[in-house]
Amino acid sequence: MTWKATVLTLFPEMFPGPLGLSLAGKALVEGLWSLEAIDIRDFAKDKHRSVDDTPAGGGAGMVMRVDIAAAAIDAAKAAAPAESPAIYLSPRGTPLTQERVQALAKGPGVILLCGRFEGLDQRVLDARDIEEISIGDYVLSGGDLAAQVLMDACVRLLPGVLGNVGTLTEESFASGLLEYPHYTRPRDFEGQTIPDVLLSGDHEKIDKWRREQAEEFTKTRRPDLWAKRGKA
Ligand code: SAM
Repeated sequence: MTWKATVLTLFPEMFPGPLGLSLAGKALVEGLWSLEAIDIRDFAKDKHRSVDDTPAGGGAGMVMRVDIAAAAIDAAKAAAPAESPAIYLSPRGTPLTQERVQALAKGPGVILLCGRFEGLDQRVLDARDIEEISIGDYVLSGGDLAAQVLMDACVRLLPGVLGNVGTLTEESFASGLLEYPHYTRPRDFEGQTIPDVLLSGDHEKIDKWRREQAEEFTKTRRPDLWAKRGKA
């Protein structure tokens, strides 16, 4: 079965957006994955198609209504492959990791709920058993870009999407390390040369050098990742 992303959004015209280009776009055309963007406003109940209301208890901004979001989620569940997890993109969610991306890419697909305004009425998250995922500790104006980030990370792992599968085993996070540095021609750029070992043709030495570089980058740039590796 084709991996499917079912996206609930107030801006269906934002999709596929950048995912219609490059590797993901080619894979979409080739049917290696599919995408359905559902307009949350289709579930509004008034002639203005409104989906939000003022927050209970007062305060700034607007909140997406529980009844409308629930109807949209129910429709998405009907349109998505069975067992697709429902995910609300939210700065309050569990931070997205490559491990979670790998698990999602192995499944049948995802249902992605893109928030706007101040976010969603809590009751829809509780009533529909929705997982919350964050793409980082900063606040976007909407969940649409976050959904695209999550989809891009998943789609590139789907069988047949990347030409060279070796790329996936060597890249950052695959083994709990950041990736080693890359070089290509020209050999000399403003006096900076490619490290000799990479031109030696000795693959054992090259692997060792890359491993050491990956460890050094991880230790200095991401001590949190390095500490986790020690414990694994
Ligand atoms: N009031 C919310 C808060 O303080 O946590 C922020 C709401 S934000 C302006 C609107 C929507 O953008 C959210 O409902 C969510 O869907 C999305 N969003 C914002 N930042 C995000 C992040 N870091 N990761 C995932 N989604 C995010």
